[in-house]
Amino acid sequence: MRASEVRRRYLDFFEKRGHQVVPSASLVSSDPSILFTIAGMVPFIPYIVGTERAPWPRAVSVQKCIRTNDIENVGRTTRHGTFFQMAGNFSFGDYFKEGAIELSWELMTTPQEQGGYGLDPDRMWITIWEQDEESRKVLIDKIGLPAERIVTLPREEIFWDTGQPGPAGPCGEWHYDRGPEYGPEEVGGAHREWPSEEASDRYLEIWNLVFDQYLRGAGSGKDYPLLGELDFKSIDTGMGLERVAYLLQGKDNMYEIDEVFPVIEKAQELSGRRYGADEEDDVRFRVIADHVRSALMLCSDGVRPGNEGRGYVLRRLIRRAVRSMRLLGHDRPSMPELLPVCQAVMADSYPELRTEFARISETIYTEEEAFRRTLATGTSIFDQVTGAVKEEGGRTLAGEDAFRLHDTYGFPIDLTLEMASEVGLTVDEEGFRTAMQEQRERARADAASKKSGHTDTALYNRLLTQRGGNVPFLGYTESTVAT
Ligand code: ATP
Ligand code: MG
Ligand code: MG
Ligand code: MG
Repeated sequence: MRASEVRRRYLDFFEKRGHQVVPSASLVSSDPSILFTIAGMVPFIPYIVGTERAPWPRAVSVQKCIRTNDIENVGRTTRHGTFFQMAGNFSFGDYFKEGAIELSWELMTTPQEQGGYGLDPDRMWITIWEQDEESRKVLIDKIGLPAERIVTLPREEIFWDTGQPGPAGPCGEWHYDRGPEYGPEEVGGAHREWPSEEASDRYLEIWNLVFDQYLRGAGSGKDYPLLGELDFKSIDTGMGLERVAYLLQGKDNMYEIDEVFPVIEKAQELSGRRYGADEEDDVRFRVIADHVRSALMLCSDGVRPGNEGRGYVLRRLIRRAVRSMRLLGHDRPSMPELLPVCQAVMADSYPELRTEFARISETIYTEEEAFRRTLATGTSIFDQVTGAVKEEGGRTLAGEDAFRLHDTYGFPIDLTLEMASEVGLTVDEEGFRTAMQEQRERARADAASKKSGHTDTALYNRLLTQRGGNVPFLGYTESTVAT
C-alpha cells in the first residue's frame, strides 16, 4: 500500500466517523518559540489547553513534522526521520478513551479489502499507565486483547503534560511485533521502561494515543499532583504514517518506502555503490534520502538556509546530505539529481511542490555550491591538522584548531565534530569554546575592530515541553554563539 493510500484511508476513515478534515499546518509555526511543528497536535494546542473553543468536536489531520532531536537516529534505527507525517484524530470534549481505543483498533485491524490497514491483531502490544484501569478494561473486555500483551508503565514513561499546571493525562501506545528477526522477545506486565532499546525496532511503536484526563498542579518533571478530573477532556493521537507504510509495504525500515526509496536509488546510480552492501554506506544512503526530503519540505514552507535557528537546521540538513554523497565517493553536485526525484514522489500528497519547485530548487542548489566551496578549502586543512595529531599518537583535536577551522574556513563546530569522529578523534570542545570566548572578548575590547561576521547556532536546541516518555515536545529554545 502506497504511503499516499495510507494517508487517504486514515482521513476517509475518520471523516466517515464525524471528524472534520483539517489540512496540515506549515512546518514553521507562527509561534516563534517553537522551532518546527513536531506533532499533529501542535495546531490544536489552544483547543486542548482550553484557551480557545474548538470549532468542531472531532478533527482529523495528517500533519507534516520535523524533529531535529531524532537527527542522530536517522538511518540507524528503522523508524526515525527528521521529516515525517503524523496522522492524528482528535476529540475536543467528545469521545474519550473507549472511543479512541476502539477507533484506532478498528482502522488497524480491519482487512484491507474493507478499507482498513489489515494489521495482524495477534501482533499488537499496548503500553498504558500502571494506574489506568479504564484503558485496561476497554482493551480486555471490548477489544479482547490478551492481558499478556498489555504493558504497564510508571508515570515518568507514559504521561503527557505541557510542563505547567493545566491539562495532563496518560497515553496508550500501540506497538506492532515485527517478529524475532528484529530483536529480543519482551514480556507483558509491569515494567519501568518498555520496550528495551534493543527491542524497539522489533516492537515498533506505530500509534500514540493521549488521554487528556486530569488537571495537574505545579511541580517539576513528572513530579506534580493530579488535582482531579478535567470537565473538558480531549483526545490527541499520532500515528506514524511512514511506520505503518513500511510495515504494509513489507520493507525493513521507513527509508525504503515508496516516498523515500527513489532517492536512495538515484544516489546508488550516482555513486556507483550499492545499497545493502555495507552498513555504514547504508546509513549514508538513508541519511541522504531523509535529509533531501526534509530540506525539500522545509524550503517549501519558506525556510531559507542561514546561520541561526530554522535556517541553520536547513543548512545542516543540506550539508549532511552533500557530505554523505561525498563519503559515498560522489564529488560532484548532487542536489540537482536528487531533489527532482524527491519532488516527484512527494508531489502527489503536496501539489504545491510542483508550483514552487523553481524557487525551492534554486535555494538548495545554491546552498550546495556554497558548501562545496567551503569543503574544498576546509577539508585539506582539516586533513592536515588531524593527520598531525594522529602522527603524534594523539586522540584529540585541539580546541584552537577547531576554532581556526570555524573562524577562517567557515567549518561549523558540529561538522568538525562529525568529521573528527569519522577519523577516530575527539575534539576539545571546552578549548573550542574558550577560543570563541577569547575572540569575543577581543572584539568587544576593540570596538573599532571589524566584525568577523560569523554567527553559529548550536543545533541541539533544548526542548521546552515533553509529553509521555519520548512523546512529542512542543518547542525548542535556541542557544546562539556569536563571534
Ligand atoms: P519513538 O519512541 O519511536 O521515538 P515517540 O514516542 O517519540 O516514538 P510520539 O511522539 O509518540 O513518538 O509520536 C507519535 C507517533 O509518530 C509515533 O508513535 C510514531 O509512529 C511517529 N513518529 C514519532 N517520531 C517519528 C520520527 N522521527 N519519524 C517517523 N515517525 C515518527
Ligand atoms: Mg515512544
Ligand atoms: Mg521519539
Ligand atoms: Mg510515543
